[in-house]
Amino acid sequence: MTDPDATAEGTVVDDGDAPELPDDLDAVREALVAWYEADHREFPWRRTEDPYAILVSEVMSQQTQLDRVVPAWEDFLEEWPTTADLAAADRGDVVAFWSDHSLGYNNRATYLHEAAGQVEEDYDGEFPESPEKLQSLMGVGPYTANAVASFAFDNGDAVVDTNVKRVLHRAFAVPDDDAAFARVASHAMPDGESRVWNNAIMELGGVACGTAPRCDEAGCPWRRWCHAYETGDFTAPDVPTQPSFEGSRRQFRGRIVRTLGEYDDLTLDDLGPRIRVDYAPNGEYGREWLRGLVDDLADDGLVAVEDGNEEAVVSLRR
Ligand code: SF4
Repeated sequence: MTDPDATAEGTVVDDGDAPELPDDLDAVREALVAWYEADHREFPWRRTEDPYAILVSEVMSQQTQLDRVVPAWEDFLEEWPTTADLAAADRGDVVAFWSDHSLGYNNRATYLHEAAGQVEEDYDGEFPESPEKLQSLMGVGPYTANAVASFAFDNGDAVVDTNVKRVLHRAFAVPDDDAAFARVASHAMPDGESRVWNNAIMELGGVACGTAPRCDEAGCPWRRWCHAYETGDFTAPDVPTQPSFEGSRRQFRGRIVRTLGEYDDLTLDDLGPRIRVDYAPNGEYGREWLRGLVDDLADDGLVAVEDGNEEAVVSLRR
């Protein structure tokens, strides 16, 4: 795992325009949140709003694979269930726990112990709720502060980490520039919904839009808007060379979805020439080939096909 705070990846908010985002931004947002809420990986810290438990999960996952963090996180909270318990613990015991569980740099255990003491003494046992104040805690950088503000208090800014950059670059062709990522990420997030939004977009980057994208397999909710899905170029800031994927079929699926977004419906013969110049109804890339792609998209719930008397009519499922 990377340590986002170590690379100063931030949570900068800029209210400038974000022309990279589609006009129907509400639909983009709703699609992602609905996808996340229908199914996502279950981590125990996603079931709590306790800032202490969330802080521990964030610090542990900076350097450790998430599936290994789960038992360590559970053991840690069993040993020290509250900031008061942790603050009262012997620092040597906390460090020993950290190395026994192979959680990476021991200074993180020291910082957590120190931060618990700060919460107890400086904040009367109550965590501060803003990203700015959370950064006053030992070892808590901008990324971690924002994650705790989002997941515990629904009070954070848009997270911008490596996963989020990859998603935004592919989906909306956001240039590889930190200010552009921060600006677009901030605009994309619905106001006051940092908890569900940050969870959802990070889940998208982790499950669907990984370095090798799984657009169709993971049912990515942004296929109809996605620039990479349309063009077949899945490179990203952290994926400099084209990852392997199932070839041009995916590219044509993307073009179909994009094209249908511009029309109410189209017959196969009206759709065909709009997605490839060499479309010929009875040729190799003709109706039969196109029907196969369209049927796959219908199986995925992305398009509707109506078999009329003359010719099948295809539309986007909205
Ligand atoms: S369609 Fe594919 S490339 Fe585009 S955002 Fe979804 S998973 Fe990423």
